Amino acid sequence: MVYCGRLENVNLGCVKASRLRDRKASCISLIQRGLRSRSPESFHASRNSHFQADRSINSTLMRKLLFFACLLFVVPLMGSDASYAYKPLRTYKISVPQHAKPLIILDAGHGGTDEGAKIHYFMEKKLTLMTTLLLRKYLNEMGYRVIMTRSKDVFIPLHRRVSIANKTKAMLFVSMHFNSSPSPEAHGIEIFYHSGNDRKRAQQSKEAGNLVLKDLIAQTHAHSRGVKNGNFHVIRETTMPAILVEGGFMTNIIERSNLRDKKYLEQIAKGVALGIDKYLKN
Ligand SMILES: [Zn+2]
Repeated sequence: MVYCGRLENVNLGCVKASRLRDRKASCISLIQRGLRSRSPESFHASRNSHFQADRSINSTLMRKLLFFACLLFVVPLMGSDASYAYKPLRTYKISVPQHAKPLIILDAGHGGTDEGAKIHYFMEKKLTLMTTLLLRKYLNEMGYRVIMTRSKDVFIPLHRRVSIANKTKAMLFVSMHFNSSPSPEAHGIEIFYHSGNDRKRAQQSKEAGNLVLKDLIAQTHAHSRGVKNGNFHVIRETTMPAILVEGGFMTNIIERSNLRDKKYLEQIAKGVALGIDKYLKN
């Protein structure tokens, strides 16, 4: 039994070679027959060399051992069951340095004394923060780094949000908002980008907007109001591609009801995250 443990890989080779399949007992006896009257101490095995035989073992036994050793190498090469092949004892996980992962700036609109749109106690500043926190979670799970311009209910001036973003080498700036309108009929999701002097940045922003909107609609089944040119401070003054998402109308009774549901906010966050992922992998 001692050999069974030490010669486990050899046994597998034996079993395969002699068509004994998984009958371990047969394999052990095969090896013991090979040893015959020799003392057990005269035979050793190791993973690296597969076999090592002391000089005291006779040449017949050496030939058998060499035969088994050859099978160990040849059988896997012939396309046999991969489970019979040697497997590495350890696998090493190569960790990717943090700076190698793309950085995204998330901007939860409004905050603190700036409540944004407000229907009674239902405030845009709370919705944007909740959605952006969910969005950060999805992006982190996808392997992206995220910096938020705010992660709690505080007032951050627009120029400060822009300077936070512009100090980084972020790949994309995403500002999260929710809409309001004097018309209670107005509904749907829209995304803004800024078509300024930097044509390349404008084109990239528009592309990001299209991809994000597509996944947003797929996740929420909301009405698409399209991707539009907009002159908002945070998407105009930032230096990287930037979009501003209006995730639905708080003034529309159906959308307001949806926006009160955390699962719907998760769908919005997931849609934005999937769109960002597609944009950055394009
Ligand atoms: Zn807003």
